[in-house]
Amino acid sequence: MNRIALAIHGGAGTISPEVMTPSREKIYRAALELSLQRGYAALAQGGSALDVVEVAVRALEDSPLFNAGKGSVFNADGQHEMDASLMNGSDLRAGAVAGVQNVKNPISLARRVMEKSNHVLISGSGAFEFAHKQKVELEDDQYFFDQFRYDQWKEAVGTDTVQLDHSDKEKKFGTVGAVARDVNGHLAAATSTGGMTNKKWQRIGDSPIIGAGTYANDASCAVSCTGHGESFIRAVAAHDVHALMLYKGLSLEEAVRMVVHEKLPPLDGDGGLIAVDHNGNIVLDFNCSGMYRGHVGADGEFHTAIFR
Ligand code: ASP
Repeated sequence: MNRIALAIHGGAGTISPEVMTPSREKIYRAALELSLQRGYAALAQGGSALDVVEVAVRALEDSPLFNAGKGSVFNADGQHEMDASLMNGSDLRAGAVAGVQNVKNPISLARRVMEKSNHVLISGSGAFEFAHKQKVELEDDQYFFDQFRYDQWKEAVGTDTVQLDHSDKEKKFGTVGAVARDVNGHLAAATSTGGMTNKKWQRIGDSPIIGAGTYANDASCAVSCTGHGESFIRAVAAHDVHALMLYKGLSLEEAVRMVVHEKLPPLDGDGGLIAVDHNGNIVLDFNCSGMYRGHVGADGEFHTAIFR
């Protein structure tokens, strides 16, 4: 069966419908649609699932609306530290970066880690050195400056408060991700984030952790998560969806439901995830008020949504 499929997210959280004016909603949906368009174009031309998730996530990283790449939040030192990972379902290869600065598209650096190094996860100044060597696109601090993010940080700086980007009133919401099934039935997943506002001590969330924020395996499904990273790490959320399918024989829908609505809530795991299975079924689910999301299947029709 050659069912191509692509799903994306731009973060989950307590999005209050009151602050989402129709014009604002339009802007967010347009950004999601652009990502779907880029990904679908690659998919329809026979591109690999891995290429497709990278392209779709890059489009979201380039938007200032989401907490990844250009729109990344400020850490406690007033800087941007970004995390990203991707995984290829056909051979279980994976690449990830954590705490990287000045890299325009951390997801593409994660792919280089997978393809051009002997490692899965690299971090901080080492990752920056690797980025230089690989000649990936770099940007100065100004590129990542955003007044809204700055004001968000100013409220928290000097305190011990860390904020999930999406647990805020009026805000631009989080982390981005993509999952895809290509024409050959292969799966891939990718996730990218700026993490939490005012994070300290080089805190790293679930997004660059294979099995927690990202997982792909052709035998079952591809998963990208968004939400309270610490909880998703403890729940090994992305891998758990895979395991429930493979070892327990659950459908994608059942497996996602169990992780999102039964396993995560007792761990304070607010958030959601997107997933696609080996048959091309797509599930987008969350246990909070909304999740920026979109998907497209073989019919080429784009669907985007924010609230339930
Ligand atoms: N999961 C991300 C983190 O904890 C945040 C998010 O999804 O918005 O770093």
